[in-house]
Amino acid sequence: MRSWQAPDLPALTVTGPSVVLHDTARGDRTTLAPAAGESAGLYVCGITPYDATHLGHANTYIAFDLLNRAWRSAGHPVRYVQNVTDVDDPLLERAERVGVDWVELAERETQLFRTDMEALRVLPPDEYVGAVESIPLVIELLQRLDAAGALYTVESDVYFSVSADPAFGRESNYDRNTMLRLFGERGGDPDRPGKKDPLDCVVWRGEREGEPSWPSPFGPGRPGWHIECAAIALTHLGTTFDVQAGGSDLIFPHHEMCAGHVQVDTGEPFARAYAHAGMVGYDGQKMSKSLGNLVFVSALRNSDIDPMAIRLSLLRHHYRSDWEWTDDQLWAALDTLADWRRALALGAGAPAAPVVTEVLAALADDLDAPRATAAIDAWVAATLGTQGLADTSDPHAAATLLPVLDAALGIKV
Ligand code: ZN
Repeated sequence: MRSWQAPDLPALTVTGPSVVLHDTARGDRTTLAPAAGESAGLYVCGITPYDATHLGHANTYIAFDLLNRAWRSAGHPVRYVQNVTDVDDPLLERAERVGVDWVELAERETQLFRTDMEALRVLPPDEYVGAVESIPLVIELLQRLDAAGALYTVESDVYFSVSADPAFGRESNYDRNTMLRLFGERGGDPDRPGKKDPLDCVVWRGEREGEPSWPSPFGPGRPGWHIECAAIALTHLGTTFDVQAGGSDLIFPHHEMCAGHVQVDTGEPFARAYAHAGMVGYDGQKMSKSLGNLVFVSALRNSDIDPMAIRLSLLRHHYRSDWEWTDDQLWAALDTLADWRRALALGAGAPAAPVVTEVLAALADDLDAPRATAAIDAWVAATLGTQGLADTSDPHAAATLLPVLDAALGIKV
């Protein structure tokens, strides 16, 4: 599938520190330093294209865009893969409800997502891979899991047996009751009769009347969501790549199941670390499609809001925190950007080299964008003299800062 247009990425003359990231599986920080000359591997779970792109999505993709950029600042090339779940229950349900062909709906929403990502200056994945085009990969993985004795059928559906993976639970570290609750809340079917374990997940959904299906050795049907990401990541990043990432609502079951499929298939861990972005709320609840309390990036753009202000609004929150969107934050970001532009237009300013060091250090320190943007604020305040006399002692300050703002934070002023 076609990815989106890459923004210009200025080359930096300084190298950032090694990236330290909070790993959900360890419950602790870990240093992500690929061997010299090797690419860092990043897989970020993509959208199901029926209602793109709300600010919760944007928050996740910008968070891991910071990781992509922090690795590059540290001198590592990055191989980035993202999927599009372009066939799944919610997409088919929405298409049915609004009377649109599901393929058309998926293509339209995927294109809108690409346009939003370009506007927000999110670096595109090297491989942007759809579920439908990956069905042959899914079938190959299913055949290997079947040979390993990890699959069984209930009526026309094929299930993955979580007991086949002795390490099951290593990613989320949730206890069984929490797993059961979340599995039920997030698309699982813990109560279906005939399953060996309530937590077993569907990996191949047998054909249903009126739904699309593809032939397979397991009968006609379509892939489950977890096996889709497992097959795509395994194919395009190989065994044990650096980071699997997504929103914190993917910790369980999605990322646990992906890790389980690959562990059983290869005997190796899926990823070295698992990173999760917090949830964005609006009007008192998590922003979600089912609740309908969504703020869309495209709606803001259509109101002539500078996409860089949207991006800055999101960067003001640490990626792992849950927080609530308010319009005030957007107006504040617009004011801040105006100040940044005013200070940077002067050319000279307060000393820029320490700011560059601080911005790169903050982003390498578990993607601490609030700390990085605060360093820019302090430089702007010193340069404009809002806290006393204006400091223009560095004649090349703007020329030093602009490429770092762009390359590390993705903010083009
Ligand atoms: Zn995924």
